[in-house]
Order: sequence, then structure tokens, then C-alpha cells
Amino acid sequence: MSDLKTHYRTCNICEAMCGLEIKHQDGNILSIKGDKEDPFSQGHICPKAVALQDFYHDRDRLKTPLKRTNNGWQALSWEQAYDEIATRFRGLQAEHGQDSVGVYLGNPNAHNFGNAIMLPRFFKALGTNNRYSSASADQLPHHVASNYMLGAGMLIPIPDIDYTDFMLIIGANPIVSNGSLMTAPGVGKRLKAIQDRGGNVVVVDPRRTETAKKADQHLFIRPETDALLMLALAHTLVEEQRVDLGHLEPIIAGLDQLAEAV
Ligand code: SF4
Repeated sequence: MSDLKTHYRTCNICEAMCGLEIKHQDGNILSIKGDKEDPFSQGHICPKAVALQDFYHDRDRLKTPLKRTNNGWQALSWEQAYDEIATRFRGLQAEHGQDSVGVYLGNPNAHNFGNAIMLPRFFKALGTNNRYSSASADQLPHHVASNYMLGAGMLIPIPDIDYTDFMLIIGANPIVSNGSLMTAPGVGKRLKAIQDRGGNVVVVDPRRTETAKKADQHLFIRPETDALLMLALAHTLVEEQRVDLGHLEPIIAGLDQLAEAV
């Protein structure tokens, strides 16, 4: 029997990126726990990461490429699989055009560094416009807005949750999403910390969400009126001359047009 070993890794199932402490011996995982020394997650872990052990040991887990044939599933080597897929893709695209091949990228890919580095090049080489992902299913408007406002789709502003004294949450439920895009694992404790240091958490949501239940104030609005609420907030700031750009002044453009619009 080999020595018991401990590996420290980052959970790549969601943006919270919790630190994991994995104990294993002889190829068997003995435990998966939150890493208390991880600066982001400080020991937080959710059931999905604990279940990674079940994925790993699942006897149905694919460990080699499989090809569907008339006689059932046939195991292939990676080289055979790559060759066959490349040949089929080329044939399809030659016959039906570049866009005849579509790509769908599931969520954990976005948090795996190897995939993050290699997949954009692979998609570029495929040359298809049909590229979909969990992002295209639920968050592309954020990227479009960031592209217009900040010049890059991935420049997404996030709240400084650990230092703010007032957090306004509109149409989000971070206690359930685990502070996903903020990379704020253990978000419930972080929201409570705002309140413990004398701050306030205000949630605007038509639904009485898990986060709303923990907030100091919950404001209900009609579904699909978020844009009107934002315009009303901007209008009040302009109307009451309460716009104070501070250190952001040199990098803000178009404020007059915004004032005119609202
Ligand atoms: S919150 Fe996300 S990153 Fe953290 S353990 Fe759960 S799935 Fe993994």
C-alpha cells in the first residue's frame, strides 16, 4: 500500500473556484474537503465538489473515446478518435459550409485552465459561427454591455463584496449561485460580514429569493422592468445633480448623452 497523499486543487465546476483538499491512496480518493488555507474560499465547499469523488469512481465514467457503430459502442484510442473526428468535420464542412459544425461548451470548461487556453484556438481553427455555451444561454447581455461600455466583453465589473458597506443586488441570487461571477465562495458569510460591520444589503427582485431573505431590505419590482428601474435611478442622479465621478472622471465618456437620454 502506498503512502496517503494530499493534493490541493481548485474546484472547476463554477466561478467560485473553491480550494479543495483531496486525500488519496492507491488511486482511491479517501476524502474531499474545503481547503481552509485557500485565500478565496477559506474552507468553503458545496456538495457538488464533494460529489467529484463519486464522478471519479463511477464505473460508467468514460475513460477512452467511444464510437457508435452498428454493433454497439467501440473503444478507440485518442489518436484514432482525433483522426476520425477531423476527417468527418472536414468532410461535413466541405460539403455543407463552415457553419455546418456547431460547438456547445458546458460550464466547467470555462474554469479549467487547459481548456481556457486551448479551446479558443480550436474554435478559431474550426471556423464556425455556431458557437454556444452556458454563457450564450444566460449571460451574453453582460458581455455585450461590457463590450460597449468598457471595450472588452470579458471586462465585467464585480462588487468589492469584502469591503463595501452598501450592496445593492438587482435580480441576482448569489446565495444560490455561490457568488458565481464574483468569485465569492461562501457568499452568505460575506453578505453577513457587510451587516456585521454596520453596512446594508438591499435586494431588488420580484421573487422572495434566498438572498432576499437575508437582506436588510427587499424591494419587489415587476418582472422585466429592471431597465426602467436603472433608468429611473440614473434619472434621479442626474436630476438631483448627485453625479460625482471622483477618480473615474478621466476615463468616463458620454455622460452628457446619458443625462440627455434619461
Ligand atoms: S461553489 Fe462552485 S467552486 Fe465551490 S465547491 Fe461548489 S461547485 Fe466547486
